[in-house]
This record gives sequence, structure tokens and C-alpha cells, in this order.
Amino acid sequence: MKTKKSFMVIGLGRFGLAIVKTLAEMKADILAIDINEDCVAQANEFTDACVIGDATKINVLKQIGISNIDHAVVAIGNNLQATILATINLKELGVKKITVRVDDEQYESVMQRLGATDTIIPEEASAISLANHISSDNVLDYYKVTNDYSLLQIKLKHDMAKTLIEMDVRNKFEVNVVGVIRGGDFFIPRGNDKLKKDDVMLVIGILKSIVEFDSFVNDNAE
Ligand code: ATP
Repeated sequence: MKTKKSFMVIGLGRFGLAIVKTLAEMKADILAIDINEDCVAQANEFTDACVIGDATKINVLKQIGISNIDHAVVAIGNNLQATILATINLKELGVKKITVRVDDEQYESVMQRLGATDTIIPEEASAISLANHISSDNVLDYYKVTNDYSLLQIKLKHDMAKTLIEMDVRNKFEVNVVGVIRGGDFFIPRGNDKLKKDDVMLVIGILKSIVEFDSFVNDNAE
């Protein structure tokens, strides 16, 4: 089983570089690309591979080998045409998770129709917190439901000592565990269920609340 998630970051301006640096702190595998040599030089030390290239050209992406990428982030700013073409290329090459930077919210739905699984507006969301959350070992997957609400798949590192009702998850953390995957089987948990080590919880709520809940269940031996 692959333990580390691999990321590709396209566009290494301030925003893309912030994502790269944070993912590097999390020890993720990072492949990065920018058309500009200086940007590549700045990001190089934080990545496993950092190349000068034009992400609007599908052959360039093919050549640098993106078949193992779990999650690509298109962080090109101020160039809608390049953002669109890079997104279409990633989708065509089969990348499952594609987060696309949009500087204007009117383009969010356009990007989603072109293949983005998520969009991010730099002013509204800090690159650092996004990169932190999606690369944490416990967080297996991340879906943005609306601008405020997210659904995260979180793996449990320990058995829970208390049931979900005893933990008072909804009131205490303002999140809801809407599903559990245990040994490949999915079920909707009841209040009196005690979750076990290696269960994958599907947790919905505001990202900050989910992160607090994750820290509580995984960083405390509760
Ligand atoms: P801000 O606009 O808030 O300052 P930023 O510094 O991240 O944020 P840009 O300077 O626009 O924004 O950064 C975008 C980066 O994307 C640049 O480094 C640019 O060279 C890169 N880029 C643009 N087009 C392409 C492309 N076709 N392929 C790869 N990289 C590209």
C-alpha cells in the first residue's frame, strides 16, 4: 500500500510556492512545474522533481510522468486560458483529484465542468491550511461541499474508548460522522457505536471543526 500521497503543483508563484513548502513540511511527494525558470529555481529545494515547462501542453505533462499523481493543484494565477488548458490536460491524463485556483468565483463552476474536483480562491482560503489538511496522514480524502463545509475521510489511529453519543460529537465538535468504512464495508454509524482503529470515518462540518475533531480522536488516546 502506498503510504505517502503524491502531489503535483502547477504554477510556482507566491501561492503555488506556499503550497509546495507546506506539502514539503508534511513530507509529501511533490512534482512541480512552472514555465518560468526563476520560479522553478526557487521551488526546487522543496520538491522531489521540479521542471521548467508549459502545463498547457499535454505532451509536456506526459513526459514528466504524472501517472502516479494522487492530487494535482493548478496554481497558475492571472492566466485563465492557461488554467483552463492545464485543467483539461490533467483530466485527460486521468488525475483523480484536481484542485484549481480561480481568482474570480464566477469561474468556479466553469472549472468544475472542465474537470476540477475542487476550486480554491486564494483570498478566501489559505494555501497553507489546505495543504496541511489534505496531506495529513489521517486525512485520506477531502471534498469541499460548499465554501464553508467539507467532507473528510479520516482514519482512526486508535480504538475509541467511548461511543459517538458519549463523545457528544455533534454538540462538542459541531461535526457529524455520516459514514464509516470498516474493512472495506460501509455503514452509517449509530450513536451507540464505538469506532475502532483503522476505521475510516466520513466526517462533515466546517473544516476547522473537523480538524479539531481529528486531533481529539487521533492525537489523544481517547
Ligand atoms: P498573486 O497573483 O496573488 O501574486 P501568484 O504569485 O501565485 O499570486 P502568479 O505570479 O500569477 O501568481 O503565479 C502564477 C505562476 O504560474 C507563475 O510563476 C507563472 O510562471 C506560472 N505559469 C503561468 N502559466 C503557466 C503555464 N502555462 N505552465 C506552467 N506554469 C505557468
